Amino acid sequence: MTKSALITGVTGQDGSYLAELLLEKGYEVHGIIRRASTFNTDRIDHIYQDPHDSDVHMVLHHGDLSDATMLVNLMRDVQPDEVYHLGAQSHVKVSFEMPEYTGDVTGLGTIRLLEAIRASGVATRFYQASSSEMFGSTPPPQNEDTPFHPRSPYGAAKVYAYWATVNYREAYGMHATNGILFNHESPRRGETFVTRKITRGVARIAAGLQDYLYLGNLDAVRDWGYAKEYVEAQWLMLQQEQGDDYVVATGKAATVRDFCEAAFSRADLDWEKHVRTDQRYERPSEVDALIGDPAKCRERLGWEPKTDWRALADLMVDADRQLLEDQLSGKHVRNGR
Ligand code: NDP
Ligand code: GDP
Repeated sequence: MTKSALITGVTGQDGSYLAELLLEKGYEVHGIIRRASTFNTDRIDHIYQDPHDSDVHMVLHHGDLSDATMLVNLMRDVQPDEVYHLGAQSHVKVSFEMPEYTGDVTGLGTIRLLEAIRASGVATRFYQASSSEMFGSTPPPQNEDTPFHPRSPYGAAKVYAYWATVNYREAYGMHATNGILFNHESPRRGETFVTRKITRGVARIAAGLQDYLYLGNLDAVRDWGYAKEYVEAQWLMLQQEQGDDYVVATGKAATVRDFCEAAFSRADLDWEKHVRTDQRYERPSEVDALIGDPAKCRERLGWEPKTDWRALADLMVDADRQLLEDQLSGKHVRNGR
């Protein structure tokens, strides 16, 4: 029988890769998209199907994580076998500027969805996109037993959503799982996250369109993996007998400075000649170092990361240079194809 899945955040980086993966596996995929005054489906246009086609496997629904009624109605109508909750205000720096909104969407949005599942009575499996940002200032290496100490409204909202997920598992016996994912990137990463900001900057500097790239804290240490591989771990988690919590990471780390060095050198550029710092990109409280221990994920799910941060820097620079070349030559291209 065809399985069905509902993805919140289907228009985002992970949502687009996950939708591709589930379609390849033969799922019927339902995604929630936000109404916007312009098209906001760049990342999924290549897999979107005209609803008039006879054999449609991908269906989009307008909605918002702030709208509880809509979530209940959608759960009741779609009755998905699996729910992947990826939607969120996902930017740490923005969460300091919009703390209440971030708490509402990223924190309460999760409770609204969990309650929608409960109220609709649908027996579904639930995946919560938890984050390494929950560990905050607790030193690495971080695993499933590491205490949380969030350092931003985003991190705090994710801690709330994490515990809500654990609570629905314990209180209602729901198959509810937290994937605690460390930073993961790709050519589809949002343009204001540091890796993509760097690789887009490299492309533009290499093309002679700008001379300098302005960044904040270059000393931050992150464990960067490849988003396309991380969504496979998300799917594997929901194929297990029981809901549980898993760290997904590479176990290797680098500084923002290291990533700059690697990305600029891919385009034969010296990063020190082009990178300048600007305090406006620093956060009121920083997360200094995130390095995950993915042992449980490896042992229980058989999942292994394949792409390290250097390979990631190379593939993102190549993709951004190609994207820019296509844009400059007038070819119609979408984000990060
Ligand atoms: P993105 O920012 O690329 O995508 C976020 C998605 O959430 C988008 O589809 C966005 O829609 C949607 N969204 C935002 N606000 C709302 C709202 N109010 N109602 C409904 N949908 C909304 O994030 P990623 O794909 O990178 O990450 C996926 C999830 O994983 C997020 O929850 C993120 O916090 C979490 N995470 C990500 C990590 C990473 O390194 N990428 C690490 C750990 C956790 P729109 O396109 O319209 O903006
Ligand atoms: P985060 O780990 O979820 O906050 O992901 P980001 O990609 O936004 O940031 C990763 C790290 O890069 C953080 O420690 C930031 O402080 C640091 N950083 C340094 N300069 C910048 C910048 O210009 N933009 C962003 N987004 N982060 C920066």
